Amino acid sequence: MQRYVGRVVMVSGAGQGLGRAMALRFAEEGAQLALCDLNSVAVKETEQACGPERALSSTVDVSDGAEVDQWLYQTVANFGRVDVLVNNAGVIRDSRLETMSDNDWDTVLDVSLRGSFHCSRSAFRQMKAQEYGRILSMSSMCWRGNFGQANYVAAKAGIVGMARTIALEGARHGITSNVIAPGLIDTPMLASMDADAREKLASRIPAQQVGDPADIAEAAAFLCSEAARYVTGVVLDVDGGISIGSSLR
Ligand code: ADP
Repeated sequence: MQRYVGRVVMVSGAGQGLGRAMALRFAEEGAQLALCDLNSVAVKETEQACGPERALSSTVDVSDGAEVDQWLYQTVANFGRVDVLVNNAGVIRDSRLETMSDNDWDTVLDVSLRGSFHCSRSAFRQMKAQEYGRILSMSSMCWRGNFGQANYVAAKAGIVGMARTIALEGARHGITSNVIAPGLIDTPMLASMDADAREKLASRIPAQQVGDPADIAEAAAFLCSEAARYVTGVVLDVDGGISIGSSLR
């Protein structure tokens, strides 16, 4: 399919994992891409993989509103418009509540939630002027709560509330705003988990296997497409059924 020919797609946190997989998928479907990450080397690699003629990579700290505004400005200067924004940049700093530092809390909230706010605000202004836009924000299967992740859960639940509100404010301007809540996906984040814990977790997934980044990219490519024009404010679980409940027998 070539659903993104003539479309301009911005992806934050495009240096690796899901961000890179989504960028590659949009590129395959003909999009022009504005990619950012805090990691300059990694995002440059994604730019090369997408095809340097169709992708432009930038080093951006999404927690800094001025840097994000500059990224948007550059994107419009270069490609003329913004059709899709994917809010994907994020970090984890896991710890139980009683040992969680202010810094652990602030870092996770600043990148995931504040960063998504900055990018959405910048893109929304442009999309409103165009009377067209797709904002997709990455939450997590953990957004309802997860042991040892108060900061991450607060950010990922906050993203759901923010995205649904953007859906309300954007609907009359042709802007949709949706969320993907990925389950356990085979990314560098998951690879950093020890093999035993990973195995245990995988056995609890109804589908009995971890997901592939391509599963997320597929859902993203639909939600940001023309075909999804009447889909807004949804949280799409892409998780092999884990959010339904545990499949332990
Ligand atoms: P996943 O694969 O689940 O998306 P990763 O941790 O692999 O998770 O990817 C998140 C991306 O977000 C990484 O490439 C990381 O460098 C990027 N990132 C982290 N902090 C920032 C930030 N402040 N600004 C922009 N990108 C960031």
